[in-house]
Amino acid sequence: MTQDLAISCSCGTVTGTLHDVGPDEGDRLVCYCSDCRDFIRVLGRAGDVLDDHGGNSVYQTRVAKLELHTGADMLSTLHMTDKPTTRWYASCCNTPFFNTLARAKPPFLSVNTACCDKSRVDAVLGPPKGQFLAEEAEPPIENPKTVSMFKLARGFIPRLLRDVISGDWKKSPLFDPETKEPIASPRRVSPEERATLGEA
Ligand SMILES: [Zn+2]
Ligand SMILES: [Zn+2]
Repeated sequence: MTQDLAISCSCGTVTGTLHDVGPDEGDRLVCYCSDCRDFIRVLGRAGDVLDDHGGNSVYQTRVAKLELHTGADMLSTLHMTDKPTTRWYASCCNTPFFNTLARAKPPFLSVNTACCDKSRVDAVLGPPKGQFLAEEAEPPIENPKTVSMFKLARGFIPRLLRDVISGDWKKSPLFDPETKEPIASPRRVSPEERATLGEA
């Protein structure tokens, strides 16, 4: 079963919809990687977004399912490393939204569920399928329910190919389909900036 799920930043400026989503249309997981954690820390949202082990809940799905209604001009992007992972947030209230790659293709979308309608997110997306990179959790997790990169790839690679072959990758509101560039100019978080996060 799939349903529409509303997304919004905390102050309500940036709003949108994830169309026809559910447990079979994507993969929900909790990511314990230090890049996710430091991204949430840069936003100052660790206290209300991360779980007790520094995990960040995400839902990976097709880019064509995302529609933005208001506030797209408030979206900003950060790069935590020199890798292409591009992290999107609402600059009005520092709500984390999406992780994508640097350009429209290949079309990859991971939604930070902190931006999803809290009253419906569990009912619509179902529980997380597992914990990714649980070995990076802080403090460590005993007996983690790990989800492997192989299992995730079996989910997102077919979705990504579907968005490429169908041309649906052009529907992503986060990129200009002509230039394939993101609608918000990227900023790289410096190693020095990251180094201060643990002290905050
Ligand atoms: Zn906001
Ligand atoms: Zn992560």
